[in-house]
Amino acid sequence: MKTIASELAYFLRGRARKNLKVLFLYCSFLIVMTLIYAVLFRALMWNLEGREFSFIAGVYWTITVMTTLGFGDITFHSDLGYIFATLVTISGVVFLLIILPFGMISLFLAPWIEDRLRYRPTYELPEGTAGHVVIFGIDATTRAFIRKLQARGFPFVVVTPDHDEAMKLEEDEGLRVVCGSPTDVKVVAAVRSASARYIIANLSDSENVNICLTVRSYCQTPIATLVEDSEHASLLHLSGANQVIPLHKLLGRYLAVRSTTCGALAHVLDSFGDLKIAEIPVHGTPFSGQTLEEAKIRQQTGLAVIGIWERGTLTMPTRETVLEDTALMVLAGTREQLRTLEHLAGEKEEDLIFILGHGRIGCAAAHFLEHKPVPFILVDRQENSSCSEHVPIYGDATIRNTLMSAGFNRAKGVIVTTNNDNTNVFLTLASRHMQPHIRIVARANSEENVDQLYAAGADFVVSNASVGAGILLNVLEAKASAFLTEGINVFRRSLPETLAGQTIADSRIRLRTGCSIVALASAGESDPKVSPPPETRLEAGSNLILIGTPEQEEAFDAVFVND
Ligand code: ADP
Ligand code: ZN
Repeated sequence: MKTIASELAYFLRGRARKNLKVLFLYCSFLIVMTLIYAVLFRALMWNLEGREFSFIAGVYWTITVMTTLGFGDITFHSDLGYIFATLVTISGVVFLLIILPFGMISLFLAPWIEDRLRYRPTYELPEGTAGHVVIFGIDATTRAFIRKLQARGFPFVVVTPDHDEAMKLEEDEGLRVVCGSPTDVKVVAAVRSASARYIIANLSDSENVNICLTVRSYCQTPIATLVEDSEHASLLHLSGANQVIPLHKLLGRYLAVRSTTCGALAHVLDSFGDLKIAEIPVHGTPFSGQTLEEAKIRQQTGLAVIGIWERGTLTMPTRETVLEDTALMVLAGTREQLRTLEHLAGEKEEDLIFILGHGRIGCAAAHFLEHKPVPFILVDRQENSSCSEHVPIYGDATIRNTLMSAGFNRAKGVIVTTNNDNTNVFLTLASRHMQPHIRIVARANSEENVDQLYAAGADFVVSNASVGAGILLNVLEAKASAFLTEGINVFRRSLPETLAGQTIADSRIRLRTGCSIVALASAGESDPKVSPPPETRLEAGSNLILIGTPEQEEAFDAVFVND
């Protein structure tokens, strides 16, 4: 059944889809022609022979003549009538019996056969293939993940049961593909799962359970799977998954963390031993409008400002950098130092966050804020059947009055998280317009819309696919790399051998890659030294913690690691 459906689906795609339109137009033309002949038939019969026929009889006569069936139960008995009947027969032969079948063959059958004959999918990887990543299920997240794999030179293979998808992925996107059912143990063996580095299951939860069981019946290669409903996580673990990633929950958390200015410790996003990395809006601190030198953050708290993020751009701060109210500081330091900052900031103004969209991600954001606790208001135009805990305000968020009557003018932050990016751009623009100083955190369902959301006035944009891809990569590399706001990466690398013995200034890491060293951990030492001065000597065997954009991270690997 599935194969018939996928073959039929062929006609709804690409070139075949365009041809389907031509076929539709042609059929419309045939219908109009039949109707005109039927009308002419009645008029001729009445005027030439004085006989009266219904319109239905006219259509019946036209079709029997055009298809050359010619029952002969209704016939003309005059010369003009014979001429008309001949004309209808000839046009039937030409348009119905010649052009239609010929068109069907050349527009549909021939390209279909051609594709089948030309493209032969791969059904198995060569024996001895090892160290590759096997990916079941291709979507925006796995595509973003694949781009990261390609940048790092990691081998991978995508498995799909669909011939046409395999052809598209291989020929149009240049990916390595194996065609086969992900729950067939023969396919699992054919993609050399036993010697693979990791297996990524990214289909529906039930299909993922099935994949895990199939893989486990064959080998012990680690499996990472994305889970749609976090209640299914334990089932996935039971069926053999090593890493179960509740993407919606994590996305909700990412959005929530960035929407509030409440306590500095709420913003810790990752840690390397005792060293915490936190993203804190300047707005919640006493430093707004000051330069980094005036703010004396290092002297007062011991924290290092390792990056400044404002409306989509990351800059490495200098002493003259002004801490704008709308910016976000990326800080590195210990839990105690963050607590000191929290005290400095003193009493917080009352926070209130609007969450626009109560889907899985909006709901997860609400749960996070609930635990802080930070007051929030959910807005959705419909009920979320899987959540019984939250009571949203029902209404269309794109209508100004829905938000205003819910008290939007008191809001300090807004999380824009509907499943439609156009709506998200609109809501971002409208929120900025209604409340120029509000903090806007927006979700991009598709990566193409990240820039538009920033242009519309969002302070932070989180893209579903990049977060998912970032998490998958961290799982794969088993590395403690923090995934902060879209566009900022904090990552750990062991000191490249070529740099051993040089000072930080000599290494010219920032000049050559754009990355900055956040902290340095000597071999065997667990506590990294934060913001080491430029004259610090880099000892062999030590670990670097760096900050940079994803491109800068790639540049670092290209310059120092892959050489
Ligand atoms: P996810 O689960 O990925 O968060 P959903 O599609 O479940 O995505 O959630 C999106 C939510 O956004 C839905 O509950 C939908 O009703 C809501 N939504 C979409 N457009 C609007 C709008 N204009 N106003 C209010 N809510 C909206
Ligand atoms: Zn909820």
